[in-house]
Amino acid sequence: MKTIGVLTSGGDAPGMNAAIRAVVRTACENGMKVYGINRGYQGLIDDDLVELNIRSVSDIIHRGGTMLYSARCLAFKEEEGMQKAIETCKKHGIEGIVVIGGDGSFRGARDLSLRGIPCIGIPGTIDNDIVSSDYTIGYDTCLNTIMDMVDRIRDTVESHSRCFVVEVMGNRCGDLTLNSGIAVGATAIVIPEIQSDIEKHVIERIRRTQKTDKKHFIIMVAEGVGGVADLAKKIQEECGVETRSTVLGHVQRGGSPTARDRVMASQMGYYAVKLLMQGIGNRVVVMKDDKIVDYDIYEALTMTKEVDTTLYQIAHEISI
Ligand code: ADP
Repeated sequence: MKTIGVLTSGGDAPGMNAAIRAVVRTACENGMKVYGINRGYQGLIDDDLVELNIRSVSDIIHRGGTMLYSARCLAFKEEEGMQKAIETCKKHGIEGIVVIGGDGSFRGARDLSLRGIPCIGIPGTIDNDIVSSDYTIGYDTCLNTIMDMVDRIRDTVESHSRCFVVEVMGNRCGDLTLNSGIAVGATAIVIPEIQSDIEKHVIERIRRTQKTDKKHFIIMVAEGVGGVADLAKKIQEECGVETRSTVLGHVQRGGSPTARDRVMASQMGYYAVKLLMQGIGNRVVVMKDDKIVDYDIYEALTMTKEVDTTLYQIAHEISI
């Protein structure tokens, strides 16, 4: 391959820039031409491309967001949009594309690969909800942001002897909520993967800790469960503790990526280009059992991922 493209698609995540940098530098160092495709698949349809060289990606490794912008592009799901994207590739001689995004973006990458443009997916999302990968770029940064935000909430919760119900972004995946819940010592954690009886797992837990003289409480609830305002009301009424709720929201998406995300993004970006250099496409580069490996995209999309029930049990036993 002589010319490749790189794009970021779906929800942005800290570390996407580090992945773009790794892709561009690996390709340039191996004599390839690289196009940055703006706004995900939309840029491919609109022919919104910019040629990148090793200096174009200087000073971005530490920056959150994505220098190539991201978008959700409905037109790309239609054959007409897909054909326009292929025309853009042909026009610029793009022979392969690295797609940084989530499972939705990987579906697009699979469709393009099937139509003759080999694509390699790299998992980029704060949610850690990519079924084929144990880890997604942006997850560690996000986890640390949540911990930092809740530590701040905790200072005020403690001063006023209150309870705070915090909604954590994370799509349908409870990983961010469970892990941050342990990291902040939450009294209760509610995630979509584990059926929770609010009376037993939240109200009774608060009452029990009240008996041990605990006066302030943090309850972490995943976005996929929601209803934090109602839960706060219920806790106040049933436990007699002043309770507030908050939704952390998009603050979770920003910030400078952690070392883990930068290193992971660099490894995966490098690995993805090495696959394209061998003429290999229709693969995703993922982390499995602490190793970077690649899978067929179709196979990757049909995999399943289980929540760590042991971690949930640990949280249940020690956060009292
Ligand atoms: P994520 O990649 O984070 O899962 P989305 O599900 O929003 O985010 O997908 C990002 C983009 O990938 C969509 O806007 C669309 O352009 C493309 N995409 C998603 N699903 C498909 C599909 N089934 N076929 C083709 N393209 C898709």
